[in-house]
Amino acid sequence: MAIDMPTPPLRVAIIGGGPGGLATAIALSKTPNVEVRLYEQARVLREVGAGISIGANTWNVLELLGVADSLTSGHPTWTMLNMNGRSGEELHRREKAREGVKHPPIRTQRTKLQAALLAHIKPRTIELCKKLARMVDLGEAGVELHFEDGTMAIADLVVGADGIRSVVRDTAWTDYEIKFTGTTIWRTLLPWDDVKDLHPEFGTTGWWHTPTTHVYFSHVGEGLWEIAARAWHDPAVHSASKVSWGVPVDNAHVESHFTEYLPQIRTALSRARPNTWREFAAFAGPELSHLMAWDHKIALVGDASHALSGAFGSGAGFAMEDGWVLAQALAQFGNDTRKALPLFDEVRRPYYAQMYAHLAAPSRKAGSGVSSFDEKVRRKIITDGGGGMAWIYENDIGAVWDEVVDGLGDGGS
Ligand SMILES: Cc1cc2nc3c(=O)[nH]c(=O)nc-3n(C[C@H](O)[C@H](O)[C@H](O)COP(=O)(O)OP(=O)(O)OC[C@H]3O[C@@H](n4cnc5c(N)ncnc54)[C@H](O)[C@@H]3O)c2cc1C
Repeated sequence: MAIDMPTPPLRVAIIGGGPGGLATAIALSKTPNVEVRLYEQARVLREVGAGISIGANTWNVLELLGVADSLTSGHPTWTMLNMNGRSGEELHRREKAREGVKHPPIRTQRTKLQAALLAHIKPRTIELCKKLARMVDLGEAGVELHFEDGTMAIADLVVGADGIRSVVRDTAWTDYEIKFTGTTIWRTLLPWDDVKDLHPEFGTTGWWHTPTTHVYFSHVGEGLWEIAARAWHDPAVHSASKVSWGVPVDNAHVESHFTEYLPQIRTALSRARPNTWREFAAFAGPELSHLMAWDHKIALVGDASHALSGAFGSGAGFAMEDGWVLAQALAQFGNDTRKALPLFDEVRRPYYAQMYAHLAAPSRKAGSGVSSFDEKVRRKIITDGGGGMAWIYENDIGAVWDEVVDGLGDGGS
């Protein structure tokens, strides 16, 4: 009598424990017959950076992951301002519609999102101090992962969730290159009590602009206030030294880039607590023609798959959407990666293509033909939604997936 042997589980190795990796692990923990290991290079899972925006698209995927109710802290950002940073003139005030909204848009601390995701990770899923050094394609036998500590592992599917400087991507897409965009970002958190005397509008989330810089202020909950300041320098001149990510810098260094601003803004920058500023040099890379490689044994999620350097301020949401879609595709096809990965690719790649196209559109070349300071800042208004951007900020990945499944017809399993 023939004995039915159980199908061995699909061994999935996720590289990276950012929002993309954690969301992928949560989504896959609900997929039948999958064995998940998440390898993270850090000794402790700790988010660098200050605040993060959670809008409708990100809430949608957090709901699908079952994580939304664990994210309880943050500042509602119903009102968003754009201001002239030199004159203090109000350029734009956006009031978000509240009707029928289950979760308010919020600005929260990055650590809060991470803690909410971690609370849903199954025990013994994450291995820390595991920095992926290289990978070997074993053909039918899977992928061999080599870590910097000299250990190794084998997986049937490797999910590259290792961020913009992805080793997984660089191993499988050997020609891929990221470049400094010219934008440097400095971020810090400080108690609101330290700055609340400065300006009546500092309590409202908003951007204060000059033509080549902006300063973003927002409450992030728990009495903390965030400053995220950006400056653009010609990358042709400044690229060589720009490799920093989360590097401590002193107050004077940050302040030196924002001397044109209102005195109250300069004072706010100077009130950051010592040793709390972190510098981030923004890198970006071109669109990939596929988000999978090595004969359906590698898939990329999050920043590894679309090196856009936070261009839409929603990259954590995109990363989590990727992880959720990948898990649905595997479940749809009983973990057959040859069918699941092309479907994942078909759903997510055009979405990223649309983002690249949006960023390359001629209308975005702000300031061309405009000479005055005030006119240039008027062209820089950031609306974080509205203005035809619902395809990003209102994206309902669950509905997108339902449509995909409907389109598969009877052959889709
Ligand atoms: C200035 C700025 C502001 C932003 N604001 C927002 C916002 O408001 N809202 C939002 O949704 N998004 C925002 N983003 C984007 C968001 O931060 C990223 O898109 C998001 O963190 C991507 O998640 P990820 O999991 O793909 O990668 P990451 O968060 O970069 O995580 C990658 C993980 O992989 C690990 N890793 C890397 N290499 C290895 C290796 N070799 N071996 C093992 N582990 C490795 C890293 O330690 C890290 O933990 C912003 C980005 C920037 C730059």
